[in-house]
Amino acid sequence: MVTENLKTVHERIFEACSKSSRNPDEVTLIAVSKTKPVEMLQEAYDAGIRCFGENKVQEIMDKYEVLPKDIRWHMIGHLQRNKVKYIVDKVDLIHSVDSLKLAQEINKEALKKQVIVSILIEVNVAKEDSKFGTTLETCIELVQEISQLPQIKVKGLMTIAPYVTNPEDNREVFKELKKLAVDIKNKNIDNVDMKILSMGMTGDYQVAIEEGATMVRVGTGIFGERDYNKG
Ligand SMILES: *Cc1c(COP(=O)(O)O)cnc(C)c1O
Repeated sequence: MVTENLKTVHERIFEACSKSSRNPDEVTLIAVSKTKPVEMLQEAYDAGIRCFGENKVQEIMDKYEVLPKDIRWHMIGHLQRNKVKYIVDKVDLIHSVDSLKLAQEINKEALKKQVIVSILIEVNVAKEDSKFGTTLETCIELVQEISQLPQIKVKGLMTIAPYVTNPEDNREVFKELKKLAVDIKNKNIDNVDMKILSMGMTGDYQVAIEEGATMVRVGTGIFGERDYNKG
């Protein structure tokens, strides 16, 4: 199933790229494998996937142990400060930084482990109460503050768009995130680049690509529905 689904997702990415005259090489697919067993991740790996997205520190640590070491792990969920130390040297990119305090903790742990950590700033574009993230208004200031931290490299922005049934309803959200990234880039802040725009999930990744996404985070579309009751 996973292999078939991946084929479909790749085709749709390709379609969205053609439609918006973009090069498919500019779009990285993150396979969001949270709650899924390692056998399914292995199947995706065998089909060529190297980037996996998880939202729980413990789950990254467990899966990291048993799966191939050339996997690039993406932390996409809300990160608690007391858990930063477990993953700073295991993840390729943290998508979900939304406060200076969290960034300072990452910087501190990264220094201990002598690594540079790449991060994205999570922006709650639609200002949903249920979601984490900085706002469009405060993002630039946060980026400026975080740019001072020597062990951190800000590589771009991430957003989780609202749940909608018509993906077109999120087009404006994606446009706004892109626009914010351009504004920040134009400020030429040291130690900051805006090459990565992580936006688009199973329901809306094609629209996100048309609006400039360079990373899409697809879970259900690859691994099927998640069953949170299984534990
Ligand atoms: C779960 C999750 C996804 C994947 O969602 P799907 O709708 O299953 O594709 C993407 N991004 C984040 C931050 C998530 O938590």
